[in-house]
Amino acid sequence: MKTRVCRLKEAGNLEIALDPIQQPDKGDVIVAVANGGICGSDIHYYHDGGIGSIRVREPIILGHEASGVVVALGSEVKSHEVGDKVALNPSQACGQCGQCQKGLQQHCLNMQFSGSAIRMPHAQGLFRQRVTLPQSQCIPLGDASLAAGACTEPLAVALHACRRAGDLVGRRVLVTGSGPVGSLCVGAARYSGAVEVVATDLHDKPLSAAMAMGATRSVNMSDQTLEEYERDKGLFDVVFECSAAASAIESAMKVIRPSGTLVQVGVSGNLSILMNTLVGKEINWVGSHRFHGEFELAAALIREGRIDPTPIISATYPLDQAEQAIVAAGDRRQHVKVHISFNGE
Ligand SMILES: [Zn+2]
Ligand SMILES: [Zn+2]
Repeated sequence: MKTRVCRLKEAGNLEIALDPIQQPDKGDVIVAVANGGICGSDIHYYHDGGIGSIRVREPIILGHEASGVVVALGSEVKSHEVGDKVALNPSQACGQCGQCQKGLQQHCLNMQFSGSAIRMPHAQGLFRQRVTLPQSQCIPLGDASLAAGACTEPLAVALHACRRAGDLVGRRVLVTGSGPVGSLCVGAARYSGAVEVVATDLHDKPLSAAMAMGATRSVNMSDQTLEEYERDKGLFDVVFECSAAASAIESAMKVIRPSGTLVQVGVSGNLSILMNTLVGKEINWVGSHRFHGEFELAAALIREGRIDPTPIISATYPLDQAEQAIVAAGDRRQHVKVHISFNGE
């Protein structure tokens, strides 16, 4: 039995190939992948052959955001049935190392993260019609849509960012950068009790996704400013910085209140920051990296209809057009989250 896979051989060279389906171990399930979300890392791998110091050094099946339907069970699988809709958790921590022992599984020293080129050999990803995974990586979606289910991973990232922010009940929140993760931070912050969530971006398309996810106001920074929020040393309790743009971080530091918390979600290389503002306002600038337990939480919130992530999806392409899908996903004027559909056999 073979499966079609979406494999990046090197920068700019994507192939749809036929691979053998991996035989399930006794605790594994085989999933027919339904939807796969294209993430910034996939886009950078395709266009640039990596991100910063992470380089694609061997062919890699892309993708770490996916949903699907269970089609076969290993001999000892009790928790799933054929036909179950599931969200696929790309994060496999070892459970044994020092970081895992401390409960910091997102920092696992032996992390296998599907579709990531960080380690050698690369962890192969989820963009294939059939994938074999441990049952524990397949989280039930109940009656939720498979499109929503493929948003579980970025929603988990947003929920982890909320956890890093601390108590959000009654808080005034700014989200800078309203791409998929920014827009899902809006939804997660609203769900966590934030009363006001202002979202910024340079384009209207992501801002409309942020509004659909519950933002109370959107600000297009190409022709508006946040100046009105600068008074009294700044009005926002919490900022989710999802752009990693120096200008966005600078404006965020001006409008965050003294002792506010700035959660850094977006990633870039080195940039200069307003060190005197960071110190003078005693800003708590915290990083937020991936997720752990939040994946199951995200799946539960989607399953129960508490957070609907689908407003971020701007297009769905068939597998045959994976390359066009990745190129489209990089166009922030037109797209927020682009999905690939693996359904067509
Ligand atoms: Zn992602
Ligand atoms: Zn570990």
